[in-house]
Amino acid sequence: MDDWTVLGWIVFMHVGAIAGFFTFSWKALGVCLFLWWLTGGVGICLGYHRYFTHRSYAIPKPLEYLLAILGCLAGEAGPISWVAAHRYHHTYSDTEKDPHSPLRGFVWAHVAWLFGREKFLAEFDLYKRYVPDMARDRFLVFLNRYHMLPAVALTAVLYAMGGWPYVVWGMFVRSVVVYHSTWLVNSASHIWGYRSFKTTDQSKNNWWVALLTFGEGWHNNHHAFQRSARHGMRWWEIDITYRTIQLLWVLGLASEIHLPVKSEVGGATRPVTPVLAMGEK
Ligand SMILES: [Zn+2]
Ligand SMILES: [Zn+2]
Repeated sequence: MDDWTVLGWIVFMHVGAIAGFFTFSWKALGVCLFLWWLTGGVGICLGYHRYFTHRSYAIPKPLEYLLAILGCLAGEAGPISWVAAHRYHHTYSDTEKDPHSPLRGFVWAHVAWLFGREKFLAEFDLYKRYVPDMARDRFLVFLNRYHMLPAVALTAVLYAMGGWPYVVWGMFVRSVVVYHSTWLVNSASHIWGYRSFKTTDQSKNNWWVALLTFGEGWHNNHHAFQRSARHGMRWWEIDITYRTIQLLWVLGLASEIHLPVKSEVGGATRPVTPVLAMGEK
């Protein structure tokens, strides 16, 4: 997608969300909240981020593909494109090459980078070298190219189930909530909060972003231990995505869960799943 298409899409979704004022029902709100968790929490945080970008745990192939589809439903980007941008962010965090550092301002880090981004992040042939593990998979490449298909199908299902109120709340309002939640990780969690670890970037632990993003707001912990499946390191750092990974482990669906070793975090973690590898620096 070119920059104008991205800008037009974001404006379109926000304008569409205004229709939420005229179509409210408690059921529609329930659909919105459920899909916020399913697409933002499971699709983006559990899938795109902790699984595809950082490989912080292992899952069977069918579940991997399901997570990729749920990630597409968030309407942020295809899985390969999203992961390439995020790996690039970790490689160049808060330097001139960081695609969304708040050193260029809050608005840039929050949203403007999406339509002023580095050209290579919009071209599969150029960004695929950052994601060789995913670019080999034909299904993921297909999904990356046609990442809007799952959203079109979901829109049709919502319309059949509850008419326009379900479409407005389940697609437009929910997408705007998911967008800003994700974007706050890039903006607010690199500006406001506390730092538990000395990393070379500006990442912060931010409790309210963590609540909005199912645990992703513990961003300084994450930059310190990028491969850790667990981002909330202290008992009160609530991390719903890690609890979901634990649930998958209990069900026998997730394995090889990466966690920091206890001494690295000053005794702040209490691993309840096997410690298999230390986080990358
Ligand atoms: Zn990350
Ligand atoms: Zn970051």
